[in-house]
Amino acid sequence: MKEKNTKILSIDSLHPQIDKIKEAAKIIKSGGTVAFPTETVYGLGANALDEKAIEKIYSAKGRPEDNPLIVHISSISQLEDLVENIPQHAYILMERFWPGPLTLIFNRTNKVPDKITGGLSTVAIRMPAHNIALELIKHSQLPIAAPSANTSGKPSPTNFSHVIHDLSGKIDMIIDGGSAGVGLESTVLDISGDIPIILRPGGITIEDLFSVLPRVEYDRAIEMSITDITPKSPGQKYKHYSPDARMILVSGNIEEIVRKTMELCKEYISQGMKVGIMATKQTCDRYENSNVLVVGDRELPETIATNLFSALRRFDEEKVDIIIAEAIEEKGIGKAIMNRMKKAAGGKIV
Ligand code: AMP
Ligand code: MG
Repeated sequence: MKEKNTKILSIDSLHPQIDKIKEAAKIIKSGGTVAFPTETVYGLGANALDEKAIEKIYSAKGRPEDNPLIVHISSISQLEDLVENIPQHAYILMERFWPGPLTLIFNRTNKVPDKITGGLSTVAIRMPAHNIALELIKHSQLPIAAPSANTSGKPSPTNFSHVIHDLSGKIDMIIDGGSAGVGLESTVLDISGDIPIILRPGGITIEDLFSVLPRVEYDRAIEMSITDITPKSPGQKYKHYSPDARMILVSGNIEEIVRKTMELCKEYISQGMKVGIMATKQTCDRYENSNVLVVGDRELPETIATNLFSALRRFDEEKVDIIIAEAIEEKGIGKAIMNRMKKAAGGKIV
């Protein structure tokens, strides 16, 4: 691919400068690609109604063509053209969780290009809770298709420098708008059938959803041990969030985790490997003289969500051979964190 001249634009996330937003919107309107911050991770955006623009997203990321994109909107009125047969509970969900980290899967209209949906009869839609993202959509006067702004398969980008690392020279513009908030991608909830089904756990937890829905289920393929099931969300079948280093996830109670982590650490060091330990505030003091990175606080799992992807990228910068990571409780946002960690570890759990 020919190297592009990627324009960098710094925008204030609290009070986005409208002249700069308009400059970015101009690129979207003319079929170009712009990476921008959202409250989950950075997204790589293009006009969702323009097949050629969408192709640019896939080629910059190296994303498999059958992995559909999420369409980002800034007002509910934009839904009309894109989706049909909106179920009654969709309005309750949108009212409660939009703007925010909840992606809803609807039946689509034929205005939605096949390229967006990988040929599926449904489309994924979200309204992001981030000033820059919302202003960009508004000023483009278009729905914006935006997957995470990373090279496909790598940990998602939670700050500007991650996007520069993966996509500089491959897209038209990168907006620097500080760090993304949640740090994990949106929850993907399929409401195109009778029972709402979580296809990907994320920023909105199942507990949150139960506050407005009587019934919600996880897609069975989310449990990675079930390998003989094809996930409903095409993206879930691909290798994901993978650092260059091999990763091992250690589970159990805290004492077991610490003991096993130290044992593995010694073993790999004796084999001449460079080891990185991804620890928590509660355990970090236990790993003396080791290469330890504290990812967050077990009591405040949202801190782990915020730091997880940048921790994985940090280990790659340090060129460690193996990452030993501590599992956390699969409760609340912990479910989404463990989903990403298991994928990063390629299912390797001890
Ligand atoms: P990303 O934009 O990189 O966060 O990935 C978007 C996720 O949403 C992927 O896991 C996709 O497979 C999923 N997705 C997008 N559209 C659909 C759809 N119509 N049906 C099911 N999953 C979808
Ligand atoms: Mg992604």
